[in-house]
Amino acid sequence: RQEQFRALRDVEPVTRDGQRIGLQMNAGLMVDLPQLSESGAEGIGLFRTELQFMIASNMPKLEEQEAFYRAVLKQAVGRPVTFRTLDIGGDKVVPYFRAHEEENPALGWRAIRLSLDRPGLLRTQLRALLRASAGSELKMMVPMVTEVSEIHAVRELLLKEVQHLSKHGHALPKKLQFGAMLEVPSLMWQIDELMAAVDFISVGSNDLFQYTMAVDRGNTRVSDRFDNLGKPFLRVLRDIVRAGERNNTPVTLCGEMAGRPLSAMALIGLGFRSVSMSPTAIGPVKAMLLGLDAGKLAAALNAALDDRSLSGETTREILLRFAAE
Ligand code: PEP
Ligand code: MG
Repeated sequence: RQEQFRALRDVEPVTRDGQRIGLQMNAGLMVDLPQLSESGAEGIGLFRTELQFMIASNMPKLEEQEAFYRAVLKQAVGRPVTFRTLDIGGDKVVPYFRAHEEENPALGWRAIRLSLDRPGLLRTQLRALLRASAGSELKMMVPMVTEVSEIHAVRELLLKEVQHLSKHGHALPKKLQFGAMLEVPSLMWQIDELMAAVDFISVGSNDLFQYTMAVDRGNTRVSDRFDNLGKPFLRVLRDIVRAGERNNTPVTLCGEMAGRPLSAMALIGLGFRSVSMSPTAIGPVKAMLLGLDAGKLAAALNAALDDRSLSGETTREILLRFAAE
């Protein structure tokens, strides 16, 4: 099967009814980069910058961060890379960055919250990203956004860094794309404001599911208790796609759902046209979508999601049947 998937590497990811689906990969370390050309991914849809921090024994300095981002962009040879700013805390532990013990780390001082409280840390990272992307495109996004004001706060720091660099005669990126991860449910009720504030949205379905269903993603006693292909979560995802269409804001998804053929199929049925996944999943997902009638699936899935009766097949059963047929 590996061979079969490899043979698909250069095949265009187009569904049977002509829908093109952008397939990107997730990465975080230099060792991931060769997978870009091996998998046939169009780019890196999620670059987890905290990994450099997690494997280091102390805080990477500005120069180290810049050199690292520069090396990543060089290896990507023109394919887009979406850098996510530091997502420390919660399940992502950085040993030398000892915050005080928290009773609920997933709900605690993490990601953009921590970055905004330590603006020196964030500004250093933004500076490194800007410098590494001089003359090309910088595409970046912010994790764990809870309120739109956090986006504006990061943008302000970013503008300060741009001004600082241009004042000191540094070259700047030719183009800047600034996005937010949608992984905290509160954003569902600020979604139009959110989309007005960014260039793109990337759904972090791992955390969005965790916070929507109130189940710890790392606790196997509960993490599989509710179905991420059940009605509640699929309706959340559909609302995001619809908001993207309404606001003309590109929407992608970079959680584990994107990498499993059945859930990737569901995402296409919901209207996602771009997803990012672990590189080994690209072959299986592409094999799935080449045989998919996206329009027919969308009709069946939307009808199921609009149905308010609690009897009959679950949405997972409908998806399984569709996949089998
Ligand atoms: C997510 O939450 O879905 C995501 C992509 O980010 P991470 O798994 O790194 O939290
Ligand atoms: Mg996340």
